[in-house]
Amino acid sequence: MNDAPASPEPQGPESQNPASQNPEPQNPAPLGRPAGRPAGRYAPSPSGDLHLGNLRTAVLAWLIATTENRPFRLRIDDIDAQRSTAEAASRQLEDLADLGITHDGPIARQQENMPHYRAALKQLQDAGMVYECYCSRKDIADAQRAPHGLPGRYPGTCRNLTDAERDQRRADLLAQGRMWSLRLAASEDIEGEWAVRERVAVAHDPGRNSGEFRGEVDDMVLRRGGNIERADDDAVDDGAGGHADDFAYNLCVVVDDALAGVGQVVRGDDLLTSAPRQAYLAHLLGLPDVEYAHVPLVLGPEGRRLAKRDGAVTLRELPGGAREGMQWIRASLGKAVDQSFSSDATTPPAAILAHMRDTFDLAKLSREPVTWR
Ligand SMILES: [Zn+2]
Repeated sequence: MNDAPASPEPQGPESQNPASQNPEPQNPAPLGRPAGRPAGRYAPSPSGDLHLGNLRTAVLAWLIATTENRPFRLRIDDIDAQRSTAEAASRQLEDLADLGITHDGPIARQQENMPHYRAALKQLQDAGMVYECYCSRKDIADAQRAPHGLPGRYPGTCRNLTDAERDQRRADLLAQGRMWSLRLAASEDIEGEWAVRERVAVAHDPGRNSGEFRGEVDDMVLRRGGNIERADDDAVDDGAGGHADDFAYNLCVVVDDALAGVGQVVRGDDLLTSAPRQAYLAHLLGLPDVEYAHVPLVLGPEGRRLAKRDGAVTLRELPGGAREGMQWIRASLGKAVDQSFSSDATTPPAAILAHMRDTFDLAKLSREPVTWR
């Protein structure tokens, strides 16, 4: 592929901010700086309509970004082509617009960023930080159950194989019609951990914790393997004999955010533990630091995270539509916004949202999950 766009440029792991669209310094600046700061964003996966939990997170992402004079980006996270549809994407964008959520710049789509993912993978390969993994899910589960195995952590089985062992494992997999995955060889210097700046999920405890979340980083998958039928002839660039461009979300999201000048990621706290992996990848790729705000999930009546089974949970299912949805979201934010603004059946959701922005205070946001109805 010679038509890969210029950013992100392949650079060494220690290189600074590449020629991305983000000219800002890497460290988050104090509140109140004028426009031109790294952007916030919301990036839904288009596999169905957004529910109130998703929409509450979108509203929070917009409130935090806009009250800090950050641009706000939207992106369609459609890397999982099997589960994504164009119809779901356009319905999601309609729902966000109905709530009054505005955005800056074009709406990005992961499917359009493939050349950038390939360039990022190549950058890591050129730095000698990628290796082939031949393990099945069962292999990994068995290794984790073994003495000294660690649950949820890749045991490093394939990291130090000899050339002869690799040839044998490749042949074995190809005979089964399967391809190997590619993993990051995480530096031993980081001792399996990386720290990120986190503004919501970690208590700010003066003298003890300044909003840092430290979490596990293992040899994460960068490109998945799987059945060879899915191989893509266009992507024969690594001598692997053909391979689908099945990039892992951790790699994609880091590249996507850098391309859009995103410096602030607000999302559900179920993704908190993936933040250190993503931030470490960004560091290796020489991309700017991102700050995180992982907000509590919305739970359904039975205490599990909100889902379609919980009944009318999308704007289109609510009798009062977007206005009713926005009124519920406002109530769910408690002391973080002024609750005295009266709205009735004629108040546009965007007017409620604008009033929320004028009174929003992230420091007063409850860290507890919210229950729908
Ligand atoms: Zn392996």
